[in-house]
Amino acid sequence: MSRSVTVDREKCYMSGECYYNHPELFRMDDEGYPVVLVGEIEDAALEQHAREAAEVCPAAAIRVS
Ligand code: SF4
Repeated sequence: MSRSVTVDREKCYMSGECYYNHPELFRMDDEGYPVVLVGEIEDAALEQHAREAAEVCPAAAIRVS
């Protein structure tokens, strides 16, 4: 079952943990917001990284669904 990752920009305050810790999933855009690099996640390890990013995000702005 594939998963997708989304970032709520209304909540995000650009702390940077997601793209610094998980450059395989996120990159920083010109404004400092994260951009999700992976559309559908099929890989279990990558899904775990996404869940870790969501848990660590101080703004609770990352969702894995
Ligand atoms: S960790 Fe959360 S608050 Fe920080 S840049 Fe990523 S989405 Fe935004």
